[in-house]
Amino acid sequence: MKNWEANIRKVTPYVPGEQPKRTDVIKLNTNENPYPPSPKVTEALREMSTEPMRKYPDPEARQLVEAVAREENVRPEQVFVGVGSDDVLAMIFLTFFNSDKPILFPDITYSFYDVWADMLRIPYEQQPLNDAFEIESRDYYKENGGVIFPNPNAPTGALLGLSAIEDILTHNPDVIVVVDEAYIDFGGTTCTGLLDRYENLIVVKTFSKSRSLAGMRIGYAIASDELIRYLNDVKYSFNSYTMNQTAIQLGTAAVEDHAYFEETRRKIIATREQAKKELAALGFSFADSQANFLFATHESVPAEELFTALKEQGIYVRYFKKPRIDNYLRITIGTDEQMERLYTFLKEYLRKLNI
Ligand code: PMP
Repeated sequence: MKNWEANIRKVTPYVPGEQPKRTDVIKLNTNENPYPPSPKVTEALREMSTEPMRKYPDPEARQLVEAVAREENVRPEQVFVGVGSDDVLAMIFLTFFNSDKPILFPDITYSFYDVWADMLRIPYEQQPLNDAFEIESRDYYKENGGVIFPNPNAPTGALLGLSAIEDILTHNPDVIVVVDEAYIDFGGTTCTGLLDRYENLIVVKTFSKSRSLAGMRIGYAIASDELIRYLNDVKYSFNSYTMNQTAIQLGTAAVEDHAYFEETRRKIIATREQAKKELAALGFSFADSQANFLFATHESVPAEELFTALKEQGIYVRYFKKPRIDNYLRITIGTDEQMERLYTFLKEYLRKLNI
């Protein structure tokens, strides 16, 4: 071993879902929105010139921060924007999870949390979901260095009610509690209404799902002015210009088109409710997802086998070969047409197996 090797920060990286090179696939594997971004984004893109690119962007991304604040009914001082919610969450881990006590998050959850904790040497303890794959708020009563969970949870889609979130908050007044609402627009109620009463709450959201802008990389946190100031201090100590000028302008156009946001999220919710019926009729079961995906297991065919068969047909879904969830597929809700192709394939596949 070379001497310098002992000092390298060795990490086991997060593995994102596959982005296939083929373009003829039905892509239901990374929870993207099947509908294009708002026409207002297309318009804003057409009107953009390259001149602003010569200069550094506004380090405060004020235009985007103000648009998000208007949409969320908070003050701009309560908003922090970043390069996707992954960037925002990484900054939150770095800023607020700085205790010797372990942070708490579910055992089955967004698989980036343990990666950030390992990389930043933050101790953590994973709290098992119950057998119905739900978060039990009493598991978060113990002493800890911070709490984080997605709501709805990923990859299960299960939603925690506001009263359970408030229960977690009242039992954790001395640490930061982060609610990752990447999927909240597909069914749940945001907990931003609790911000006035809980100064230790941070709510994180993204433009990647309900605003159809995963490729633009925009996410944000909403919290008290004080917590946002701490986050900005760390951000400015790391990289002042996280948000590029194009993202600032196009993100603003997206968030200002509230009507399009409502229309597309309603379509996805309707398709998801139909998918629940279709897949249940084919022998699948799943938690009652309130997200833009279903986490489904089949009564007789192993998930890995279905995953491979679907992929061969050009239908990509997500499979995690991990304890407790290795017989489940996470299926992103696509358009009605895409979902029809999924059902047709599954019906035929199961018929051939005499199921
Ligand atoms: N949180 C959860 C629960 C997610 O599933 C994702 C998507 N991978 C993210 C955060 C990050 O999304 P983005 O960085 O695209 O905003």
